[in-house]
Amino acid sequence: MSSRLPGFYKLDPDTRLERVLEAAALDPALGSSWREGGLSLELADRMIENVVGTFRLPTGVAVNMLVNGRDVLVPMVVEEPSVVAAVGNMARIARQAGGFQASSDASVMIGQIELRDVRDPAATVAALEPHVERLSALGDARLPELVGLGGGIRGMELRILRYDEPGEEPSDLVILHFFLDCLDAMGANMVNTVAEALAPELEAITGERVGLRILSNLADRRLARARVVLPAELLGDARFSGAEVAEGVAGAWRFAWADPYRAATHNKGIMNGVDPVVIATGNDWRAMEAGAHAFAARSGVYKPLTTWKVDRAGALVGTIELPVQVGTVGGTLRMHPTVRANIALLGVQHAGELAEIIAAVGLAQNLGALKALATTGIQEGHMRLHARSVAVQAGAAGPEVAALVAALVAARDFSDARARQELAALRGGSA
Ligand code: NAD
Repeated sequence: MSSRLPGFYKLDPDTRLERVLEAAALDPALGSSWREGGLSLELADRMIENVVGTFRLPTGVAVNMLVNGRDVLVPMVVEEPSVVAAVGNMARIARQAGGFQASSDASVMIGQIELRDVRDPAATVAALEPHVERLSALGDARLPELVGLGGGIRGMELRILRYDEPGEEPSDLVILHFFLDCLDAMGANMVNTVAEALAPELEAITGERVGLRILSNLADRRLARARVVLPAELLGDARFSGAEVAEGVAGAWRFAWADPYRAATHNKGIMNGVDPVVIATGNDWRAMEAGAHAFAARSGVYKPLTTWKVDRAGALVGTIELPVQVGTVGGTLRMHPTVRANIALLGVQHAGELAEIIAAVGLAQNLGALKALATTGIQEGHMRLHARSVAVQAGAAGPEVAALVAALVAARDFSDARARQELAALRGGSA
């Protein structure tokens, strides 16, 4: 299958869906999951509490993505214009250079068990050390299905921390970290199950008091990475040479590297690509966000999650590395029919493959934003897409929408007043 679907953006939604189902060789019956919104009230009511309805967002499909030599059509659930277009446009450039190369760690999540107000931290650690193997076996015993599939505990670590907020009584904490390979699950529930099961053992061994028992979303043992190398000649257009674009993107990255104010927005742009795929696949986007930003600040200074540099041959080289705590099974994700359809469209069997696509999409999205910022500015493309919602809000319908968008773009004025005026003119009246 090819993710290259020329002119896809010009089609109407029904025809797009037909093309997608055809290109990915999916059962046409899956189409109803997208068309009809997927989630019934009955299912929603089983998912969370106090349900009164469901909430719809657009699903778009990013075309052109090539990840590890495999064509992939990427479902993205997002309310912001220009996100899906940017991924497809950057992926079209990248595929001419072999696409994105991506890799991922095993799905190892970290569980934390806190021993609070510990009297002698060093002695507590020494007391726990001989029990690590037994504790690992106890943890595994709580997850027979996961262990049977090849997952389970992959080691433990003991950490001593001190609370010493000025002006307050200091206290010592001993934290047991356990590492759980969650295979294809996000793993939060499984980690929490193990943490709660081990806690009484820790109290029995040490005579100290357990505080919290929960996973850490700083999933820095579950990183995904992607890389792209773009020869300068692929980056130029009528107004800017490829070398100018490459240097512009690298310069934009250096600004983010040097300044957390810029890095926050740089990383927001990355999450513009990441979150819509995390949401489309029924995953926990709050966990993803928390992990990404904590990882960005791991040195003590908030940094960009990507790098962009120009190599000796003049090619633009981009990389991304971030924790991607997503699953293809578990939680409530498989309950949602559209999630099942989105996972089928992505053609992923394992959490690691999904993590790699997510990293590549984040990198593509970041390139789209930096390329625009470094050349024409972000507003030109963004406003062109935003013009559609301005047009609809002004009352345009059917073929009027495209005509009104064209008029607003020509006028470079996207105000509501202008939209109403242009619409009236289109309809042959006056405002
Ligand atoms: P889960 O409890 O459904 O566990 C996964 C289940 O899938 C297990 O029973 C496992 O045995 C089974 N399984 C079948 N095939 C598998 C395979 N190939 N690989 C792995 N497991 C397989 O779900 P979970 O993933 O442990 O927890 C995810 C949920 O936890 C999400 O809904 C998330 O929102 C929520 N959560 C998140 C946080 C947080 O991030 N801080 C905290 C609490 C809960």
